[in-house]
Amino acid sequence: MPTKVKCLASLEDGKFPVPSTVDRRDLRPDDVEIKILYCGICHSDIHHVRGNWGADGYGYPVVPGHEIIGKVFRVGTEVSKFTVGDSVGVGCMVDSCQTCPTCNNDREQYCDSTTFTYGSLDRRDGSRSYGGYTEMIVVTEKFVLSIPDNLDLAAAAPLLCAGITTYSPLRRWGAHPGSKVGVVGLGGLGHMALKLAKAMGADVTLFSRSHGKAEDAKRLGANQFLISSDPEAMKAAAGQFDLIIDTVPYKHDVNPYVMALVPEGSLVLVGYFGPLEPPVNSAPLVLRSQNLAGSLIGGIKETQEMLDFCGHHKIMSDIKVIDAQELNSAYESLLKGDVMQRFVIDITTL
Ligand code: NDP
Ligand code: ZN
Repeated sequence: MPTKVKCLASLEDGKFPVPSTVDRRDLRPDDVEIKILYCGICHSDIHHVRGNWGADGYGYPVVPGHEIIGKVFRVGTEVSKFTVGDSVGVGCMVDSCQTCPTCNNDREQYCDSTTFTYGSLDRRDGSRSYGGYTEMIVVTEKFVLSIPDNLDLAAAAPLLCAGITTYSPLRRWGAHPGSKVGVVGLGGLGHMALKLAKAMGADVTLFSRSHGKAEDAKRLGANQFLISSDPEAMKAAAGQFDLIIDTVPYKHDVNPYVMALVPEGSLVLVGYFGPLEPPVNSAPLVLRSQNLAGSLIGGIKETQEMLDFCGHHKIMSDIKVIDAQELNSAYESLLKGDVMQRFVIDITTL
């Protein structure tokens, strides 16, 4: 018998989540049932409930949340990695085919059958996936992550999405001592990018549209702070950066960031998914052999590597823990872009 659990769900197109209930499946042999303690709020949650990524083919309700931390409550008969009471995390994926070339290469995020944590149809039984704004979740063992003992559980939640989404391109494009890394936008992803790039030894600059974020940027690891709308500041930044990670969630001009790259440098978009406007001028890209790229979360193996890196360096997210009843005002703040940490829901307040 499926178990009915309390949740926050968006019940119709564009509506913010409200208290509701959903069913969780019975345990399969390779399933772990997790009692959720905390769930971070990612801007993707807002895009999803507002339909910013196009029509939701699977309809409503949508239960967002893919920065999940909790304790193992029950395990299936074939589970070997986890026992009841372990502190665990779940990010943006809860299953994949586990046999295709991308899965075999630890890149489950590109598998054609990936079950994303919410808004997907389960590849095995076709049921809809519901995310972490709930009391309980049932997840395939392979997609459950171990949380290092020295990390605060609430402050570790955002590592499961904001952490891996910025760690992966920093590693792939080689942030290291002596490299110059730019981060565009200081929100949930941006603040993790600053902390991680700093821990990798890079010289880090924040590009922001918000004058008020300068001090926090420096506290979080930025060596420099630049206002992205200031033409003089952007002119001075030209030709300096080995890698820029752009976390801005909405359409914006990326040409100034291309101009800020060194020859063979890379601009990696993680925030905005859609046509760019104004169009990107390819001349500087071609003439200076630069890369314009994108990056999607990270595979499960790399996510565990990121968590272990954060344990080693004691890196956690800056968070504001909120009650479930405060969700609307947290969403409004994220839409204004005036926060520079992560809201994390205390799931015991559901
Ligand atoms: P936040 O809302 O926490 O932060 C976004 C930041 O972008 C803001 O704080 C602001 O920083 C800047 N910004 C610039 N223009 C705007 C605007 N018009 N509205 C709001 N903010 C703006 O978002 P997240 O960090 O949670 O997510 C960022 C984006 O990354 C989202 O689009 C999300 O969907 C996406 N994402 C992508 C993933 C991937 O795998 N590629 C995974 C997870 C999220 P400032 O004031 O400094 O300019
Ligand atoms: Zn996310």
